[in-house]
Amino acid sequence: PNVVNKIAAGEIIVAPMHALKELIENAVDAGSTSIEVLVKDGGLKLLQITDNGHGIDREDLPILCERFTTSKLKEFEDLSSIGTYGFRGEALASISHIAHLMVTTKTAGSSCAWRAHYGEGKLVPAKPGQNAAPKATAGRGGTQITVEDLFYNIPSRRRAFRSSSEEYAKILDVVGRYAVHCSGVAFSCRKHGDSGVSISTPSAANTVDRIRQIHGSAVANELVEFESSDQKLGFHASGLATNANYHVKKTTILLFINHRAVESTAIKRAVEQTYSAFLPKGGHPFVYLDLEVEPHRVDVNVHPTKREVNFLNEDEIIEMVCSEIRSKLAQVDS
Ligand code: ADP
Ligand code: MG
Repeated sequence: PNVVNKIAAGEIIVAPMHALKELIENAVDAGSTSIEVLVKDGGLKLLQITDNGHGIDREDLPILCERFTTSKLKEFEDLSSIGTYGFRGEALASISHIAHLMVTTKTAGSSCAWRAHYGEGKLVPAKPGQNAAPKATAGRGGTQITVEDLFYNIPSRRRAFRSSSEEYAKILDVVGRYAVHCSGVAFSCRKHGDSGVSISTPSAANTVDRIRQIHGSAVANELVEFESSDQKLGFHASGLATNANYHVKKTTILLFINHRAVESTAIKRAVEQTYSAFLPKGGHPFVYLDLEVEPHRVDVNVHPTKREVNFLNEDEIIEMVCSEIRSKLAQVDS
């Protein structure tokens, strides 16, 4: 069974960025206002996420990494979300099957923090021969998840990563997306051994300012706001898009559907089409799109590693959003 679990986990977590995305979403779900990421060797040696969220109860620690352990049952029902994001209560379980996982956490009601180590879905001792039970330790409120030696037991996968800077770039992309989207959360991302941070967004900044911190003033100064919604189609969209007098070298779409970073080829194609009437050849848009769709309309057949998401009435919704962007572009253009 552990071989099966390992293979399944390796399909969910294909690269360090996939583990990180899950861990960031957990930290956001825990109500954190600060999320710090520390990375060593492109995330293969170390991936550490420190948040100041509500923490995990001591009594929940023994089953934390069992499959389908989730405290988000309400969300489960509300979102009918086994389908919505492909899986629930599987992220930590998966990670524990393909890495060394340590959790240090403190809730507001606890006088101390607790530290636990996991392997293959279960509590394991910090060192061989020791007791596996969680240990009391000093710590601040919130949770720190430490993932070490990702894919240590899948040598072929491990070998497939040639450049840790490539993996780090993907990690920065994920952190950057959530840093733009999550107002009220201060994000930082740092490479182990570096004195400076690669990403740092103070929580108070508005969306334009967060885009400025991550993508620079050139982009941030040329954004138009858009908003579109329709009750019958069951969606609300808002966002920021570069105007017709400005372009970037490569289409960049920061897409969030129901607060999860996802990809949509259909949206990308439609946005590029919309801009093609306004931009010179070789010029591309930068768009941040925050789309909320009634959860039961989101396609249920999405594999967890595929961030690609489909939803009902996709064509109509995309057309409404793009026509809103088009009208904004026309305004600024004239
Ligand atoms: P899911 O997020 O789908 O519930 P996960 O495997 O990602 O499943 O996490 C399992 C559970 O562990 C969560 O439901 C939550 O209760 C707890 N958890 C994980 N990370 C954190 C965190 N950073 N802060 C608080 N609780 C957490
Ligand atoms: Mg999760």
